Amino acid sequence: MLSSSLIYIILNRNEFISGSSLIKSFENRLLKRSLSSINETKTNKEIIDLPSFIPFTSFRTYHIDELTSPLTINELIQEAKETNKFTIFCDQDHSIQGSIQIQLIQSTQSYMISIKSSLDFSTLLCHHIHQLFVVIFDHHHHTNRIINIWGNMDDILRILNSYDMFSYNMNYLIDIIDVQQRFKQWYNKTFDHNIDCKQILDYHNIDGPLCSCSHRPLKTLNEQWRLEYAIAYTFSQNLNVKNDDIDANIHKCLAITSLASVIEQQWTRKQIKGYIWKCRRQHVFMKL
Ligand SMILES: [Zn+2]
Repeated sequence: MLSSSLIYIILNRNEFISGSSLIKSFENRLLKRSLSSINETKTNKEIIDLPSFIPFTSFRTYHIDELTSPLTINELIQEAKETNKFTIFCDQDHSIQGSIQIQLIQSTQSYMISIKSSLDFSTLLCHHIHQLFVVIFDHHHHTNRIINIWGNMDDILRILNSYDMFSYNMNYLIDIIDVQQRFKQWYNKTFDHNIDCKQILDYHNIDGPLCSCSHRPLKTLNEQWRLEYAIAYTFSQNLNVKNDDIDANIHKCLAITSLASVIEQQWTRKQIKGYIWKCRRQHVFMKL
């Protein structure tokens, strides 16, 4: 028995050696491939490497500060009366250069109002800013009027109240759309789990700890999307949130509007893909 085993080993020695070198070279190839895929992931999947965010429509910006004429705000109040969709964004961190963004969403060109967070507005200017918010929140102008926000409305109202710009009361029956919540529902429905993902449950497409899909970064049920990730995962674009300035806040407001439109129109995966290609062409064109 022992001798037959020995003979078997001797007989198969050559095959064994060549087999071991085969395994080694296979291992090397695997390692090379995995290293290059790590490098590829690093270079391809950093948000900073993505092309910049492109808003859906063009917009005209109005910066409101202590020197703004009340007449300008009056003009914006008239525009707000004609508008039935808005997006409001306030930077929660509240830097020194804090601002409150309101987008008056119109089909051809939107109005982007950026109000400096200041307690130094004159009484007259303060009154006009207050009036602007009253018009925006007053559902009597348009019964189907909506305001898009990202997250909790209480946080926004607290900031508006702290700068004496607006106090909310229960008579405002306007529809507030929390785009952050709705985005999660739309995204999970549109970008399903991979077929080999362990998180797949019958009848319930949720985020969970068993999920191994790289396109679904949320791994717990109550986790919420950050705006820059929502833009990166949906449109493959970089929102440049690291810049803590008014322009970055304006882009965040526009980003909420883009996501709100996608959700409202219930875009499919194919539509998103088509849009990404359209934007890539635009980016190439912009670089020329
Ligand atoms: Zn998954």
